[in-house]
Amino acid sequence: MKALIAAAAVFAASPALAQAPVQTPGQKPAQKLDTSAGPISAQRISDITRELASDPYAGRAPGGPGEPKTIDYLVKQFQALGLEPAGDKGSFVQDVQLYRFQTQPNGAYSLKAPGLSKTLQTQTDLRVETQRPVEQVRIQDAPLVFVGYGVTAPERGWDDFKGVDLKGKVALILINDPDFEAQPGEPVAGRFGGKAATYYARWTYKYEEAVRQGALGALIVHETAGAAYPWSTVVAGGGESYDVVRQDPASARLLMQGWIQRPLTVELFKAAGLDFEAEKARARTAAFRPVELKGASFSADYRNAVEQLTSRNVVGAIRGSKHPDETIMYSTHWDAYGIGAPDAQGATIRPGALDSASGVGGVIETARAFKAGPRPQRTILFGLWTGEERGLLGSEYFAQTSPYAAGKMVASIAYDTFHPLGPTRDVVLIGSGQNQLEDRLRAAAAKRGRTITPDPRPERALNYRADHFSFGRRGVPTLLLMALAGGPDVVDGGRAKGDQWVEEFTARCYHQTCDRWETWHDYSGAAADVNLAFEIGKALANSRDWPEWNAGSELGAIRAETAAQRK
Ligand SMILES: [Zn+2]
Repeated sequence: MKALIAAAAVFAASPALAQAPVQTPGQKPAQKLDTSAGPISAQRISDITRELASDPYAGRAPGGPGEPKTIDYLVKQFQALGLEPAGDKGSFVQDVQLYRFQTQPNGAYSLKAPGLSKTLQTQTDLRVETQRPVEQVRIQDAPLVFVGYGVTAPERGWDDFKGVDLKGKVALILINDPDFEAQPGEPVAGRFGGKAATYYARWTYKYEEAVRQGALGALIVHETAGAAYPWSTVVAGGGESYDVVRQDPASARLLMQGWIQRPLTVELFKAAGLDFEAEKARARTAAFRPVELKGASFSADYRNAVEQLTSRNVVGAIRGSKHPDETIMYSTHWDAYGIGAPDAQGATIRPGALDSASGVGGVIETARAFKAGPRPQRTILFGLWTGEERGLLGSEYFAQTSPYAAGKMVASIAYDTFHPLGPTRDVVLIGSGQNQLEDRLRAAAAKRGRTITPDPRPERALNYRADHFSFGRRGVPTLLLMALAGGPDVVDGGRAKGDQWVEEFTARCYHQTCDRWETWHDYSGAAADVNLAFEIGKALANSRDWPEWNAGSELGAIRAETAAQRK
């Protein structure tokens, strides 16, 4: 989950968002405010957070010095609860095969077009990476094809590719949704959720679709507004990237994927006789057809360091008494940012207390609450994933290899980064308006005089950037409890306090050395939110209900493909 800093600045700049929460019209809290947490213990969430964020865990990097101790601790927690192993060979542990890729310096990159011949520099002009286990990448004068926003959305009657042949070519793609820059009155306005980003907006989707369309490589044109972060964030990774080991990497990953600076793209389009802004406007139409840049080509020659490593997921279960093949998943990630450059005080460990040791506390407490009750009719899964910070890798690996069918997964509920601010009047919901789990959250909250506040910054696409989405992208309805969307309405301090905390944490501590456990932390608000998620799961686990996606959701179409499994 990268690049929230720019967002925090914008957030601070729009006081309107900081005012009273948007409550569903006419929704009055049905009862007196009750912020208790049922069987969920705030103290145990705090204890688990404190332990995992302590120095001996070394910032919990996948494959890092802290991993063995972390896995040992998590397995012991699941064993102590009496959960059933759901990892490899009857254990709680699932080995996750990962690749670490590093684009080597001193590669050669160039662009040619009529009247233009440019040698390019990584980090300044473009960023490239290769997520295939190949050590040398050579692309010689590959034609360049502008594919607009690079979206194929059958449920919206949208196809930017229209059967174009991209074999051996490099696609140039715009970031965000086709309606991101739409002016009011433009036919596309609102067609992709308007301000709220859909999955099509995400860079991950752009590359995934480009390889499905047969492209050799793809370069996303960086625009700060559309990306919601500056170029400095794009190149912060320095050419390092991770992926899960795949059976057929060439069918899932491009030979080369990257970003290119906007000014350079404008110059390239001009040399090819095209006007970039005019082409962008054309890309906002359903009639858009890809255009090959006449006489233009791209070349690259670079080394790619490939390292394979094994990290581990920890997975436990309570098998259902009546429908063991139907599941409800509760999950979060145990990995954090490990050890890095010293901060001003010389600290190097990035402890990941709130992100997401607190989430681990939430999952373990949810398991405890289920174990304290009668065996549910459906199976409850508890996943603690590796590699989330490197691209949702552990949860993706489990989703790819799991014996449990996504078509029979009732819900994927994830916790990631709780706030430590104590009781709140509301829950800020990421991805609001997406699926029926939200209605259940609203009902569970209302029973306690609490409300739901829609994600104030849906354009940041947080709903596609945490582990719940590894199952969401397979059509499973998702619910994410994460405190980074917008400030909650804190009982002791109001929304102003909530917003201030989100802003400061995002700007100063997110993925940094100061995401530590602190004595002033109050996890009772987190515990109350976890309890709502527990109640939702308990009700679903003892029902024949199958919550659905709301109409128009791109994920609803994927869910529909497995409808027969839920008969
Ligand atoms: Zn996280």
